[in-house]
Amino acid sequence: MADENIIDGKAFAETLRGRIGDAVTSLKNDHALTPGLAVVLVGEDPASQVYVRNKGKQTIACGMESFEHRLPDSTTQAALLELIAQLNADDSVHGILVQLPLPDHIEEQAVIDAVDPEKDVDGFHVINTGRLATGAAAMVPCTPLGCLMMLQDRLGDLSGLEAVIVGRSNIVGKPMAALLISANCTVTVAHSRTRDLPAVCRRADILVAAVGRPEMIRGDWIKPGATVIDVGINRVPAAEEGKMRLVGDVAFEEAAAVASAITPVPGGVGPMTIAVLLRNTVIAACRQAGIAEPTL
Ligand code: NDP
Repeated sequence: MADENIIDGKAFAETLRGRIGDAVTSLKNDHALTPGLAVVLVGEDPASQVYVRNKGKQTIACGMESFEHRLPDSTTQAALLELIAQLNADDSVHGILVQLPLPDHIEEQAVIDAVDPEKDVDGFHVINTGRLATGAAAMVPCTPLGCLMMLQDRLGDLSGLEAVIVGRSNIVGKPMAALLISANCTVTVAHSRTRDLPAVCRRADILVAAVGRPEMIRGDWIKPGATVIDVGINRVPAAEEGKMRLVGDVAFEEAAAVASAITPVPGGVGPMTIAVLLRNTVIAACRQAGIAEPTL
């Protein structure tokens, strides 16, 4: 596959961050408004620590304010809800993100639903889920919105295309389906109970894989000329002993030989997720201040 058929999420995210930086400069100069993102991390999960550090760095690099709240594993649900209430009331905080997963003694949905929907930059609050499903102005979950942006950049108008999404989670599969329905695709959502998954995938002009199973989707499941978005991030043993490497849910080499375009893992969907989080924070800040939203 030629390089131009690989959808470079890293480069796309960099361009998006450039536009976000410009929008933030205008908000500061024209409206004395600095968008602020609060990230709350409970516990010591090493992967979450890395994500939170990257989010903080990129927020600052785009000229926004970053507020980090690191709480011990022993934090009670009541204490966490109290912090969220404070952040909801703080005018310098326009976006609130609670890093998941939370420790077992905390009920995740109760925490998500405590965030002010207008500050819910992850788009996981039930109000935003409902707004997205009904086509109202919502905060849209970052990973599927990043996938949609890359698809529209590559394909332009998506009207009438057959889209198959493998995976029906609340954070990827379902919001991806809502976005592609709004973009006028004919959408099928497949999952672990789907019969003859390869045949369902072969229908797809757009195939989105969000399963969490390394290289499950094979080359002969792909319709020639399809566009493939691989959301999966799976750690598998590398050739070198004791090392690990990342692979997606799609067998990349096989699929790339058949598809017209495909996102790699790493370097595809992953880098877009944080960039879209920053985009959502700028949009949230504008909506809260009653300022026209920039096109991002
Ligand atoms: P979930 O585990 O919540 O959902 C997985 C979905 O895949 C479920 O709907 C499940 O079906 C379906 N599934 C599992 N096995 C099969 C199978 N054999 N055949 C068909 N469908 C199957 O995962 P997430 O949606 O949270 O994440 C999916 C992947 O995306 C993971 O690898 C995750 O790491 C990655 N991810 C990447 C992000 C990024 O920034 N790039 C962000 C978020 C996630 P059922 O509902 O029937 O159980």
